[in-house]
Amino acid sequence: DSAVQRRLSPISRTAPASPSVWPAMRRSHYDALIVGAGFAGSVLAERLASQGQKVMLIDRRPHIGGNAFDRLDEAGVLIHQYGPHIFHTNSAEIFDYLSRFTEWRPYEHRVLAQVNDKLVPMPINRTTLNALYGLDLRSDEQAEAYLASRAEPVERIRTSEDVVVNAIGRELYETFFRGYTRKQWGLDPSELDKSVTARVPTRTNTDDRYFTDAFQAMPLHGYTRMFENMLDHENIHIETGVEYRDVVNEVLADRLVFTGPIDEFFDHRYGELPYRSLRFRHETLDQEWFQPVATVNYPAEETPYTRVTEYKHLTGQNHGRTSITYEYPAAEGDPYYPIPRPENQALFKKYEALAATRPDVTFVGRLATYRYYNMDQVTGQALATWRRLKPVAAGDTAV
Ligand code: FAD
Ligand code: UDP
Repeated sequence: DSAVQRRLSPISRTAPASPSVWPAMRRSHYDALIVGAGFAGSVLAERLASQGQKVMLIDRRPHIGGNAFDRLDEAGVLIHQYGPHIFHTNSAEIFDYLSRFTEWRPYEHRVLAQVNDKLVPMPINRTTLNALYGLDLRSDEQAEAYLASRAEPVERIRTSEDVVVNAIGRELYETFFRGYTRKQWGLDPSELDKSVTARVPTRTNTDDRYFTDAFQAMPLHGYTRMFENMLDHENIHIETGVEYRDVVNEVLADRLVFTGPIDEFFDHRYGELPYRSLRFRHETLDQEWFQPVATVNYPAEETPYTRVTEYKHLTGQNHGRTSITYEYPAAEGDPYYPIPRPENQALFKKYEALAATRPDVTFVGRLATYRYYNMDQVTGQALATWRRLKPVAAGDTAV
């Protein structure tokens, strides 16, 4: 069916097709080909399959779960291959939906920041201020007055520098935010949207949790197991280690759902959309514990990594040894973070306009919609996208 094949072809095709290794499955007809088996692709696969649609789900990586993939390392400790993933949401609907596929372990994330020789709570709270400056702030009001005395009001809050300096002043900004942000993004906070550092609040109470969402928990048997349960359906055929371009001409499907980088889908026609990458250094240590909480942040610009995470705090696993991950931000490598700043958003809008000319293709997820979304937000976006999906009409194509 060349019409259907044409519908699924990218606007230009440059990569050669690989030798076919699974011809039988490729030749059967699918209602949807879904590219990417992370939260976005897996939620859509599950929803479509539950409606009786036949789905082919592929991922170029050798596993499902996308960036939330976890696995036992060589020592038998459950680690997150792509850095620490802590689930939190205020949406009962999203929590209930995922609860169909996993039980949960209640977990509230706590983070300490290494400042000089001290480990202090992050987000900054009253305890942080007292510990750092030898103060004795005893109430919210006292802490509020203290912060107000240091704050440097900014008239128009635009950037990630403005939002912090306006709230807590330059010294605290430089201690906790400037170096960390420069490392994480390769940009000064003054070059990033305010939404980036606004993710981390400042508190006048002593609540030392990283998140305050109504639902905070870790999948009891890990994320990968949750994805396995989600995708365990006779209507879902999964192929991992498979690149979209290598199969697009073989798979017959009425609809394409694409969750990879949107600029890549369109052969970088308008240039590369910037995504920030990370290098992960995973280590297993011959000791039971390494640090007092799951994550320690290193805001000093001289330290090459941003944070170290010890998984057993997250997972509750009992083990005589312990595994940790250092995160080193990088310009090159897998795309992990869209970079929120006006010029990138303008470039994304051009790709979004191109996407609008392809009613046969649905773009969803953190990379395809270029949004700095958490797991719950991607889940919510995928559920909303599924509700809006209309049948693909014959002739709905720009090529
Ligand atoms: P992804 O998980 O990136 O999945 C996309 C998949 O598509 C990938 O597996 C990729 O291999 C595949 N793919 C792309 N292009 C192709 C192609 N051409 N052919 C075949 N396959 C392709 N969120 C939280 O809620 N809490 C956290 O604590 C948290 N911590 C994070 C820590 C780090 C270091 C990172 C990077 C992210 C974190 N997140 C966290 C965000 C979370 O990872 C994302 O919200 C979520 O994983 C996005 O899901 P997705 O399906 O959109 O994308
Ligand atoms: N941030 C910071 N210092 C910290 C923690 C966070 O400057 O100790 C800033 C930094 O710019 C970071 C952003 O706040 O990228 C968001 O932090 P979050 O922990 O939400 O990042 P993520 O877990 O998404 O990597």
